[in-house]
Amino acid sequence: MEAPASRDVLAIAPDDRHKPVLNHGFVELCDMMPRFVALGRIGAEAAIVDAARVSYGEGTRRVSSDRTLLRYLLRHQHTTPFEQVNFVWRVKAPIFVQRQWRTHRTSSFNEESARYSVVRDEGYVPAAAEVKAQATGVLASAQSGSEPLEHAAAVAVAEKINEARDAAYSTYADLLACSVSREVARTVLPLGMYTTFFWKIDLWNLFHFLRLRMNPRAQEQTRAYAKAIYAILQKVVPEAMSAFDDYIYGTVTLTRPEVEAIRAAAVSGAPLMTAEPVSEENPLSCREREEWHEKRAYLYGGEV
Ligand SMILES: Cc1cc2nc3c(=O)[nH]c(=O)nc-3n(C[C@H](O)[C@H](O)[C@H](O)COP(=O)(O)OP(=O)(O)OC[C@H]3O[C@@H](n4cnc5c(N)ncnc54)[C@H](O)[C@@H]3O)c2cc1C
Repeated sequence: MEAPASRDVLAIAPDDRHKPVLNHGFVELCDMMPRFVALGRIGAEAAIVDAARVSYGEGTRRVSSDRTLLRYLLRHQHTTPFEQVNFVWRVKAPIFVQRQWRTHRTSSFNEESARYSVVRDEGYVPAAAEVKAQATGVLASAQSGSEPLEHAAAVAVAEKINEARDAAYSTYADLLACSVSREVARTVLPLGMYTTFFWKIDLWNLFHFLRLRMNPRAQEQTRAYAKAIYAILQKVVPEAMSAFDDYIYGTVTLTRPEVEAIRAAAVSGAPLMTAEPVSEENPLSCREREEWHEKRAYLYGGEV
């Protein structure tokens, strides 16, 4: 029997598979599974709905369009069918970004070794807009900075970072020239040096990664990589990404005190923008209130 005609999901413009990120980095989609999809099916997402349909025995199988079923599955957290779609990425990123990336355990990494190869003279230098002041007040413990520095000050900071990196790399090169082993010489290099790695992950866990790392609370430079991956996925699994936008990325999770604040406002007729959550047995922290203001602004519009 002749195999049905299929199309290569990765037969897209090179720019749609490879995105530059930061000053020297990139993300590139190397391969995926399934890669060849029968003509007439929605795309690689066919693997998701086919896996889900195995739940229904022959004869009880419901006729449901691929798109409708895909969206139903994600809406109801039927997650394992999304693990049927797999991706292999090649990434070049500063070590401080890669270190955060590594915490995503439900994926596989293979990173270049600075024990076996010589580290390239390539370091991250922030663009002026990325140089922020340390957050203060309620957000003092937030990982991200808040306000950008004034332009001239930001440029001076970027230059200082570059000088420090140059000095460290020069020491590294001197140590290698003195026959010091690569594994010891590398210890003088800063977190801003670039590294490359292969990264294998399935679609469900990639959704999880994107939800966490595209969030404004994630570090801006790591966010830039997550956004580049998101842009590539929109080209190769557009139906899945539309469902991701609707049922994961664009959603808000409310705590019980927040739900009660909305209910109380509905009963009293007070404007929702003034509703404040109260929890008598467990008083809310300043941080929780700050988070509520952010959610409320997202839900109803207006200033945080
Ligand atoms: C804004 C932000 C700030 C962060 N700050 C820090 C920090 O200061 N220090 C730090 O160390 N990390 C920090 N992290 C990393 C964070 O704690 C998680 O390790 C990371 O986001 C990966 O999330 P995950 O464990 O859900 O993902 P994965 O490791 O991909 O796991 C996915 C899911 O699988 C399950 N799972 C995986 N492994 C196990 C296991 N061994 N046992 C039980 N369940 C498992 C869990 O349900 C988990 O949610 C930060 C992350 C973010 C987004």
